Amino acid sequence: MSDIWKDLNELQPIVLKMITNGLAKGRVAHAYLLEGDPGTGKKQTALYFAKSLLCEEEGIMPCNECSNCRRIDSGNHPDVHIVEPDGLSIKKQQIVFLQQEFSKTAVEANRKIYIINHADKMTASAANSLLKFLEEPAADTVALLLTEQAQRMLPTIISRCQLLSFKPLPPDLLKNKLIEKEVSLPMAALVSRLTNNFDEAFRLGTEEWFAQSRKIVLKLYEVLLKNPLEAMVKLQEDFNGHFKDKQQVSLALDLLLLLFKDLLSIQTGNGNEQGLAYPDQLALLKNTALHSSIVNTTEQITAILEAKRKLDANMNPQLLMEQLVLKLQGGASFV
Ligand SMILES: [Zn+2]
Repeated sequence: MSDIWKDLNELQPIVLKMITNGLAKGRVAHAYLLEGDPGTGKKQTALYFAKSLLCEEEGIMPCNECSNCRRIDSGNHPDVHIVEPDGLSIKKQQIVFLQQEFSKTAVEANRKIYIINHADKMTASAANSLLKFLEEPAADTVALLLTEQAQRMLPTIISRCQLLSFKPLPPDLLKNKLIEKEVSLPMAALVSRLTNNFDEAFRLGTEEWFAQSRKIVLKLYEVLLKNPLEAMVKLQEDFNGHFKDKQQVSLALDLLLLLFKDLLSIQTGNGNEQGLAYPDQLALLKNTALHSSIVNTTEQITAILEAKRKLDANMNPQLLMEQLVLKLQGGASFV
């Protein structure tokens, strides 16, 4: 079993099952729409699917070694065409070119496959050309359309495709992918709890402003524990200067929320330590857990959620943070 298959199957078991079932029963549709967030494995899956269809070896899974598999991997197979946006959009002439290529019979294999990446970026005239193409599919043609924003595509195109929905990455998997890209463990653990979009997670995980945000929120938390009366000073010293607008304060509230959720999961014994947003703060969190109750922590979490609601309702962020700090002071029993 190849590593690629194992990776994809871990990432998207349902999609893989749909594909392999179709192949096993000899029921391959003319067109598929692969939709899901960036980094969820759509393009890898499309190439894997193309290899499964053209592999010279017997069986459903591609061998990854025959000449067809290797040429698909290197982008050199004459019967597999990949269309990418030309600049900001996919233009009509790209689709027309594809149609011309597909009007010829397959060069080698008995199937021709085209993959359109970012299919939502087709211009209106490109989309209309594609629609005509999809309406009259040749028996030996398979279309794989990839998109992060299916809602931007023509419903008439979507309705002609079999839908393959890619799940967002589970936090642990996202964390490991970030660590592979040399994001540090504390940052990877935290950002994978904030988003399941790999690109956004990677951007946050490597951003100096975000690293600073994490430090300031942790400092505020420590002051709340050890010297609650100074928390207001800390807020004015560090916090307000760093988290300036509504969006930034909203992120700070999320960071604080994750910290209290970590605390709650330690207190309730539900969480495994692998799943913490702040694994490097385990000692501090365990120590706090000894001195505060589940009821207190739940009240603190409620206060943060309430602050998030008020922020959304356009309450002044500084005033809101001052109120929140007062509540968190009152709700804690301190070390
Ligand atoms: Zn092969």
